[in-house]
Amino acid sequence: MPIKSVDGDLSQNFMEPPDYAHEPPPMSALQDLLFAQFQSKDLLKKAERAGQAYLDGVFDRNAAPSQAAIQSLEAFDEALPIQTTNGEDILDQLINLGSPATSAQIGGRYFGFVNGSVLPVALAARQLAGYWDQNAALNVMSPISAKLEAVAESWLCALFGLAEGSVAGFVSGSSIANLSGIAAARWRLFHRLGWDINRQGLAGAPRLRILISAQAHGTVLKMIGLLGFGTDNVEILPVDAQGRLCAAALPPLDERTILILQAGNVTSGAFDDFENIMPLARAAKSWVHVDGAFGLWAALAPSTCHHVKNMESADSFATDGHKTLNLPYDNAVIMSSDSEALRAAFHSMGAYIQKSGGRDGMFLTPEMSRRARGVEFWAGLKFLGREGIAALVELLHERAKEAAKGFRAAGFEVLNDVVFNQVIVADGKNTTKLMEAIQSEGEIWLGPGQWFGRDVIRFSVCSWASRSRDIERAITAFTRARHKIMNDNSRGE
Ligand SMILES: *Cc1c(COP(=O)(O)O)cnc(C)c1O
Repeated sequence: MPIKSVDGDLSQNFMEPPDYAHEPPPMSALQDLLFAQFQSKDLLKKAERAGQAYLDGVFDRNAAPSQAAIQSLEAFDEALPIQTTNGEDILDQLINLGSPATSAQIGGRYFGFVNGSVLPVALAARQLAGYWDQNAALNVMSPISAKLEAVAESWLCALFGLAEGSVAGFVSGSSIANLSGIAAARWRLFHRLGWDINRQGLAGAPRLRILISAQAHGTVLKMIGLLGFGTDNVEILPVDAQGRLCAAALPPLDERTILILQAGNVTSGAFDDFENIMPLARAAKSWVHVDGAFGLWAALAPSTCHHVKNMESADSFATDGHKTLNLPYDNAVIMSSDSEALRAAFHSMGAYIQKSGGRDGMFLTPEMSRRARGVEFWAGLKFLGREGIAALVELLHERAKEAAKGFRAAGFEVLNDVVFNQVIVADGKNTTKLMEAIQSEGEIWLGPGQWFGRDVIRFSVCSWASRSRDIERAITAFTRARHKIMNDNSRGE
């Protein structure tokens, strides 16, 4: 089916052969235009003004875009222009159609997934780094990016109490950070068995064991599949009622075992039992990878740090910057005390690759070309400092507890112990209807989940901007939605 649009039909992009006979405008005209755009700076100023106007409204508007705004996105379904398009028009299209169709994730009433807001200084640093247009692959490409990555690396490793010599690679998200940690584990355990996984591959390799909990995040299984282990070959361990893996559920461990633990269950926020598991894993010389996408930061606040006791002795750690730390999107880190394994997993060569004495980020990550994420990480960490990070974690935890208390007082079920920032809410048989009513009203936004076979609502506090009154508005939205459902039922709809 062709994609219908206002101005035409997208399928024509594929149906018409390219018009090579058509003479393009002179190259110099394009170059002149681009220079003129940077010289006048009109486009950049326009985008900056629009961004600032967006900020003025976004903390008060609904968390969800309206149906009309989403409907209007159809205007983007147009054929690729033949000629260059006026830059101002492009920005107008984004401002007029794009801005209203955003989810107000930057605000304080977006409780879906585990999506954070953004720290102003990190946003500003990103804007500046955008002008720099740095490629962070190698030190020789971008000395400033290499420097800020190196500083952020040392700060992060110190913050989490990792062993001397630990390293960090800056990646897009915890999906890739999980991939990176498991790839390092794979290299190390095979290496110990005299097998070079990079050269010899998996066919005919000695067998490794992979242990995960029944509540491991979907990206963990995805990456296990991608690394060739086969998800059928994973041993899945049972969890307790909070979704925690406890030491008692572990089979005997050995030096061929990759054990993947979780700091922050994506539904309940729960933490695996690091305190009792880590000594067993250390004694057995297993590799422990921690998926701590949002929960790793619990280590840094007084009221939550007991959940991750002994976690620092694991071998690799995945965590996002764009969740708990409230950095802009596309920011995460893989940390490991085994720098040799991480580097070996991402070894890469090429006659044109110029190594330097400095930090070459591409040897710690799957990608080569990357944007300079270290700029945002560095700015966010420097702004908050140790105490600011602790305060941010405490704030998210405190708001989640307020929410749980409010939901219970309003007669809703809360199914988990609120140990971090996640609250699991249900309302008898009406849970899904309730969630849909809340979503369609749009004042707050949150999404569904499954909890031990039950449909539930996941309520995640991950934004620095969530105030007590935003939590109150959320509880009111729940109550309003419940009344609406009751009214609809009594009218026989
Ligand atoms: C969000 C999340 C991931 C995936 O992280 P991305 O940044 O979305 O790639 C993995 N594990 C857990 C526990 C998460 O919450």
